[in-house]
Amino acid sequence: MPTAGKSTGAGTAIVAGGAGFLGSHLCEWLLQKGHRVVCVDNFLTGATGNLVALRNHARFSLVERDICRPLDLRGRIDQIYNLACAASPPRYQADPIHTMRTCVLGTLNLLDLAERSNARFVQASTSEVYGNPEQHPQREDYWGNVNCTGPRACYDEGKRAAETLCFDFLREGRTDVRVARIFNTYGPRMQRDDGRIVSNFIVQSLAGSPLTIYGDGSQTRSFCYVSDLVRGLVALMEVERNPAIPINLGNPREFTISELASLVLEATGSRSGMSFLPLPEDDPQRRKPDISLARRLLGWEPSVPLEEGLNTTIRYFRQQTADRPARTATGGPAVIEGVPMNSDR
Ligand code: NAD
Ligand code: UDP
Repeated sequence: MPTAGKSTGAGTAIVAGGAGFLGSHLCEWLLQKGHRVVCVDNFLTGATGNLVALRNHARFSLVERDICRPLDLRGRIDQIYNLACAASPPRYQADPIHTMRTCVLGTLNLLDLAERSNARFVQASTSEVYGNPEQHPQREDYWGNVNCTGPRACYDEGKRAAETLCFDFLREGRTDVRVARIFNTYGPRMQRDDGRIVSNFIVQSLAGSPLTIYGDGSQTRSFCYVSDLVRGLVALMEVERNPAIPINLGNPREFTISELASLVLEATGSRSGMSFLPLPEDDPQRRKPDISLARRLLGWEPSVPLEEGLNTTIRYFRQQTADRPARTATGGPAVIEGVPMNSDR
């Protein structure tokens, strides 16, 4: 296994997908810790608005690029975080072939870059590799139950193939790669039209429209607040001994979708009702991480309770709604390396 000793302490970190929800928080954290950060993003689901707080930072730069194309970034690179991939089911299903390309070709391009640079690598994998799990809670040694021909497969199988690439690079001693299996994470900077449950429910509650529950609402998810998740990704990057197995990162408190709807309605004080829509094909029935490995190997566990994280996220969406007309009214957008800021593309 390569030593990639450069990766501890402040250095240069590439964050692929850094303009997205998780990636922008990660960029911010790394800058705070003294790193130089290069965000690589094609703005498929990312937003320039997510980078507003970073754009003037002396150690931050943006490369607008699709990771499906080989990356010719030069200079010293110490760490690469690969978060580039649409994560919301409607978004990754909108162009399934591109999703598969991003997961497979994109990850391969970044692994090649990591090998050339002797950089340490963290791959953002997903609990979706467990499919509709028959084991509950899910441990990392569970091989999963994925329908490889269904509408979610471009993402689930793409991420599984990406994990395969990562572990082959590791076994061949080419890159010091670590894999995080991320469970549903939420927080400020999710896109309001992203389609995922927490943003949907909050936006609907604030607009006074019914919360859309797919199926009967009995399916479960376990929701992790973004700051906890970012802390976990960084711990996985920084831990000296490579775990050499994927690590679940998520909050093990499990909720039904109906329970989440009630919590959001209570927290927003909204009188929106609920409307029941058909359950999407292959929607996993339940999901909850076993995080024993993360606790033991990284000394990591989440600390933000759902009620608290929801309140922060609701404040963000309220603020966004209030800011929206003002922003469009205030003249031309700021610019970072040719990319207009504050646009929600
Ligand atoms: P997101 O959609 O907000 O961010 C993804 C970012 O990747 C966006 O900025 C997008 O523009 C960029 N991107 C997509 N395809 C790209 C490509 N081909 N080239 C360059 N950039 C590209 O999603 P997120 O919630 O921030 O998720 C980030 C990562 O974490 C994803 O890889 C996702 O699979 C993984 N993940 C997230 C969750 C979660 O609950 N948020 C759960 C499991 C896994
Ligand atoms: N969901 C829902 N209403 C929505 C959006 C999602 O009931 O408006 C359900 C969805 O069917 C799934 C769960 O909430 O069972 C989580 O969906 P999300 O898209 O957030 O993530 P994933 O399915 O990838 O875990």
